[in-house]
Amino acid sequence: MTQNGSNASNKKIPVRRCVGCGEHFPKGELVRVLRTPEGEVVLDLTGKKSGRGAYICKKAQCLKKARKSKRIETSLECSIPETVYDRMEEEISHG
Ligand SMILES: [Zn+2]
Repeated sequence: MTQNGSNASNKKIPVRRCVGCGEHFPKGELVRVLRTPEGEVVLDLTGKKSGRGAYICKKAQCLKKARKSKRIETSLECSIPETVYDRMEEEISHG
């Protein structure tokens, strides 16, 4: 009796929106961009750090889009230095 045409699954998978492409994906497919209590912005590749987070695909392309639109900044309510973006791009493309 399901009305959506997606794959039948009775497990609820939490989905999050990528701040880059704006599409929704299961949480596990995205990486969290985190603002630490110290005000640092880092990629949370382990998913275990606490703090305010935004979700993004593990794609340099999505990070570039998010960088351009400043959607991470908006979401985390802080400014992100160029060097931090550069580091995140490195991590995403190698991760
Ligand atoms: Zn994306």
